[in-house]
Amino acid sequence: MSVLVMKFGGTSVANLDRIRRAAKRVGLEVAKGHDVIVIVSAMAGKTNELVGWVNETSPLFDAREYDAVVSSGENVTAGLMALTLQEMDIPARSWQGWQVPLKTNGAHSAARIVEIPTENITAKFAEGMKVAVVAGFQGISPEGRITTLGRGGSDTTAVAFAAAFDAVRCDIYTDVDGVYTTDPRISDKARKLDRIAFEEMLELASLGAKVLQTRSVELAMRYKVKLRVLSSFEEPSDEAGTLVCDEEEIMELNAVSGVAYSRDEAKMTLTGVEDRPGIAAAIFGPLADAGVNVDMIVQNISDEGFTDMTFSCPTDQVLRAEKAMQDAQAKGDISYEALVADKNVAKVSVVGIGMRSHAGVAAKMFKALKDENINIKVITTSEIKISVLIDRKYMELAVQALHDAFELEKGA
Ligand code: ASP
Ligand code: MG
Repeated sequence: MSVLVMKFGGTSVANLDRIRRAAKRVGLEVAKGHDVIVIVSAMAGKTNELVGWVNETSPLFDAREYDAVVSSGENVTAGLMALTLQEMDIPARSWQGWQVPLKTNGAHSAARIVEIPTENITAKFAEGMKVAVVAGFQGISPEGRITTLGRGGSDTTAVAFAAAFDAVRCDIYTDVDGVYTTDPRISDKARKLDRIAFEEMLELASLGAKVLQTRSVELAMRYKVKLRVLSSFEEPSDEAGTLVCDEEEIMELNAVSGVAYSRDEAKMTLTGVEDRPGIAAAIFGPLADAGVNVDMIVQNISDEGFTDMTFSCPTDQVLRAEKAMQDAQAKGDISYEALVADKNVAKVSVVGIGMRSHAGVAAKMFKALKDENINIKVITTSEIKISVLIDRKYMELAVQALHDAFELEKGA
């Protein structure tokens, strides 16, 4: 029997009517002969509301109780989806995370999946059940407490089930009809991609294209789960959406597949840093310990034993970064003249697997920015990505200029 995983995000199950529409899609797949595992999110806005209640009740909350509360939204939609399917005469039942059981580690509010035993659900399929509706986002810790997988975690639930059950595909139903070359709200030339490679999707997901939880893409890449992102508001069709797949399954690799951006970046520069072996470790160790997510790093050339060190981090971590550096200075672990924070920057990146074999991508990117008179503050590159920090006020312009320069509106 072939198993298909279908995941419905919050907007696709936002009310009873939408749950019925989603259930109809499930019915179509059942009719094709699949055993279907449906993963549901909470109704749109529900998890935010639950998180708000927790914060209001207890600002320094016990994460175990946070999980008990915020996981509940998915229980409601799982039960309602099963009921809706039963009303359509489709044999279905709901499963909460602990009933599967979806086993996780004990890292409450950001738990990692350890194992998904398949016996219980497989046995029910053998008895004639057609749809297992599973509450996304939740699992059970080694101590037997409810855990959650972090915001957006039902994508990861879906991919993990697809891997565990060796599913033919994992369809992620959302409110956008696929993955775009860039954010359509920024460039009206943005084009929906038919296919995108796992690695590219990973870069785009972590760079702020919020279609899929980054962890779900990592998992899909590791287990080679075919992922399809599609809208639950469009007519069903086999060509719908974007397939996230292995690069071997993509005929022609473009040098650049997409332009991503991240608005909330800060550029931090430590000036007059004493340049000696171990100084980078002495700076970035305390930053890591303070939970600062350092992204780009540039060390200037040393001048008479002193250098400047620049790094970027999310804007809301600037205070933490400053405190970590002041503490390290006070302890005598590092010495610097000043720490200059520039909170008005944004990161813009071009991503493409074809970059590995195409020369001149960086040159083209820099020229496009120059033509718009946009100054580049920091540059970093990887095998399939080039990122720049620029003034935030030019972010939209930069995204549009790069989209044009690489002619992303045209298909391969
Ligand atoms: N409901 C959870 C959230 O809003 C999990 C999910 O929908 O993926 O983060
Ligand atoms: Mg989501």
